Amino acid sequence: MPNKKYIATPTKTNEILQKYAFAFKKSLGQNFLVDVNILDQIIYHAGIDDTTGVIEIGPGIGALTEQLAIHAGQVVALEIDQRLIPILNDTLANYHNVHIVHEDVLKADLKAIISQYFQEEQTIQIVANLPYYITTPILMKLLREDLPISQITVMIQKEVAERMAAVPQTKSYGSLTIAVQYYTEADIVMSVPKTVFMPQPNVESSILQLTKREKPPVDVLNEDFFFEIVQASFAQRRKTLRNNLTTKFKGTLTKEAITNVLETIEIDGSRRGETLSIEEFALLANAFYKEI
Ligand code: SAM
Repeated sequence: MPNKKYIATPTKTNEILQKYAFAFKKSLGQNFLVDVNILDQIIYHAGIDDTTGVIEIGPGIGALTEQLAIHAGQVVALEIDQRLIPILNDTLANYHNVHIVHEDVLKADLKAIISQYFQEEQTIQIVANLPYYITTPILMKLLREDLPISQITVMIQKEVAERMAAVPQTKSYGSLTIAVQYYTEADIVMSVPKTVFMPQPNVESSILQLTKREKPPVDVLNEDFFFEIVQASFAQRRKTLRNNLTTKFKGTLTKEAITNVLETIEIDGSRRGETLSIEEFALLANAFYKEI
């Protein structure tokens, strides 16, 4: 099929927008892709084929959905904006392997959706150009719900992608880095110019790929507590670890008790959270978990 027939071109997108008198809702992060080359890159890096099941979040008018439908086995696309449902039913009418679900991804029962639309042994991936206003809650939901998905390939704002793929001792390294790297291996695949979107977003974008780990890289006694300790350690970035932990355990542990725990595990309390590796956070969390 020649490129100009695809939804992801400025001409075709404008045609669809006019036909339905569709006005973008900024509050829903509606920046549609109008460049097939970028979609090719996403599909290529996701490595999907006709055996893959794909969940797309936020299909918009179907630019990415169309390319996914061409390459994947089945595509299930969750869209919150009711106005887009009839448009998608029209733009994707020729693709019989696509299911549009009118739902808020943050409220959706993704396990139920997966068992409804995909086979048990099927490889399932998430591929999306995410609504940027809820990038982090969406990715946290996908990671923490323990879904049977192998990989997540998403367009997100560059600054958030950098936080997810960061290493210790950098400005981008924080609790989000640890949360993402606990469940996945994170890679920034490429930077994307604003010009491939309609309308153009205010921020720079990147394609981020998260590959699910078979098991976390560290053993923690209690996952929720581990993430609490990580959050607390970064609560005030300029404060020392000891001070952030003192705030966290106010009313539960004395300053002396905190110092004792840190000494036992040989982590210097005058360090800042951003210097700790994920292994050190696990050590810290497990030691305090035994103490409380
Ligand atoms: N995939 C399309 C593309 O690349 O052209 C559109 C991407 S646009 C950045 C984000 C899409 O997510 C919009 O269609 C928006 O309506 C939808 N969206 C926003 N919040 C959502 C939510 N909570 N659940 C599902 N979809 C959502």
